[in-house]
Amino acid sequence: MSFEELGLKSGVLKSLDLLGFEIPTPIQEKAIPHLLKEESDFVGLAQTGTGKTAAFGLPLVSKVEEGRKKPQGLVICPTRELCLQISKDLQTYSKFINVNTVAVYGGADIKRQIKEIKNGAQVIVATPGRLVDLTKRKAINLREIDWVVLDEADEMLNMGFKEELDHILDETPVERNVWLFSATMPKEVAQIAKNYMEEPLEVSIGHKNQTNENIEHIYFTVADRDRYSAVKRLIDFNPNIYGLIFCRTRRETASVAEKLGKEGYSAEPLHGDLSQAQRDNVMRRFRTKTIQILVATDVAARGIDVDDITHVINYNLPDEIENYTHRSGRTARAGKHGESMVLVTPRESYKIKTIEKKIRTSFKKGSIPNAKEICEIQLMKLVDNVITTEVKEDDIAEFLPLVMKEFDGFSKEEVIKKFVSTEFNRFIEYYERASDLNAKEGKARDRDRDRGGRNGRGSRNDENKTRFFVNLGKRDGLNPGGLLRVVCDSTGLRSDKVGRIDILSSFSFFEADNELAMDILQKVNGADYEGHSVAVEITKKKKNSGGNRGGGSRSIGNKSRGGSGHSGRRGQGSSNSGGRRKRDKRRG
Ligand code: AMP
Repeated sequence: MSFEELGLKSGVLKSLDLLGFEIPTPIQEKAIPHLLKEESDFVGLAQTGTGKTAAFGLPLVSKVEEGRKKPQGLVICPTRELCLQISKDLQTYSKFINVNTVAVYGGADIKRQIKEIKNGAQVIVATPGRLVDLTKRKAINLREIDWVVLDEADEMLNMGFKEELDHILDETPVERNVWLFSATMPKEVAQIAKNYMEEPLEVSIGHKNQTNENIEHIYFTVADRDRYSAVKRLIDFNPNIYGLIFCRTRRETASVAEKLGKEGYSAEPLHGDLSQAQRDNVMRRFRTKTIQILVATDVAARGIDVDDITHVINYNLPDEIENYTHRSGRTARAGKHGESMVLVTPRESYKIKTIEKKIRTSFKKGSIPNAKEICEIQLMKLVDNVITTEVKEDDIAEFLPLVMKEFDGFSKEEVIKKFVSTEFNRFIEYYERASDLNAKEGKARDRDRDRGGRNGRGSRNDENKTRFFVNLGKRDGLNPGGLLRVVCDSTGLRSDKVGRIDILSSFSFFEADNELAMDILQKVNGADYEGHSVAVEITKKKKNSGGNRGGGSRSIGNKSRGGSGHSGRRGQGSSNSGGRRKRDKRRG
């Protein structure tokens, strides 16, 4: 099909020569004729790079009323970078027609943007926060909008813009059309479609739900006798874990759960020997995060539909490979990131290759964290707890003089060391004689690994990643979406370039590929997050240890008080803050 056949205005067609577009891409072929002719909502599932800007941009500039100096089309996108890119593209598409596009985004002079809108624009391309600001200042009247394009809807929700999107969509008239573009369709995006769209035409390019791209598959080679110790280390290294451990038999399930429970972990079993009432009870407590870790058999865990699971640990590989897909699919739901970890003995390691082929994905080879790495993480957690503990001045006042007297003669450093050691020594003692649990595996496989050549998220290994420290944490109002927003907005990176995020109370961490480090340092340092100046530093490099770093809610030997404190890597709450169904489709 040619562009001429799609029904575009001649002035718009002329611009395509400038761009050198000769034939439409698949999403353009499907979307453009529909969007031009129909007054209906639209959902396009497409990644960037598929030509989706032109898929919505060409019909949009064709449909708005030329010369009418009122914003009629709104394009909302997650970052300033994308905002500039889209507006530039739309300006090119409308080079030979009388349509003006204005870009509005945060971090730039709002007065100038207001002036540009007042000068007359038919299309506004905006980031959500700035658009809400502008509507509050009455610079844009959303009641007159006919078309709302949500570009990279999943990214916007990842970045915590749900409230802004709800606000914007609620303010636009019911009869407007929403054209939603997203690479994935997590629950939160589906919710937007449900609340604000009516029987949208759905066009999908590529795979519909690429959530499994968000799962990082990691295998660890250990001796059979070390499985349990290895699991403990993985948990200790990931103090924020909200996870599922899969075992093959009921007996193994019960035994692993019991041992973990005895050692103070917040873990419970789920298997067929439990009564329905017992299973319901365990599931309820897991769902409410009273239990941090569920140890389950494949059958018992079938159909577990819990969001936010951060890690799936395969204590053993399942007998049926299909079950591996079911197991790992319990994490990385709703567009979030998750890890599926597998413990294999050297003799079993060949099975990884079979799974890789079957599920067409790559495993990363992880190494069971050593004592030092675990101690460092737990120590940082302890420090974070100390820093954020509230001091009840009135309650301790009468005891303080006595305490102070006891510390007379100690320097600040000595006091800190003593306090930290009080809590931490038992940890160090536990790990003092901890040996390396990583078993050697076949040489052939190692050579394969060295050759690399993997795609996407799974291709990264920790040597390629830089870990950053951020001076803000939960108490500054920072959440994973907010951090993504700051990093992506300052650098123009997409959110999938940012790896793990750990938000602690007073500081945070995130990871990104090494080659982005300098750019991130230069651009994110000094950025503003809700009135706080952001400072970023590179942390000490860690070895490849397959797992989340950063603080968590528990220490080994300490019965968790439930509620893991897990903050989830991606995405914001899915609460449905209003929204209304369209009732009226009068426009013809
Ligand atoms: P997008 O997915 O909108 O970010 O587009 C990805 C790239 O493909 C951009 O550089 C576009 O300029 C280019 N592009 C989009 N549509 C076409 C087309 N029909 N022919 C050639 N290039 C295109």
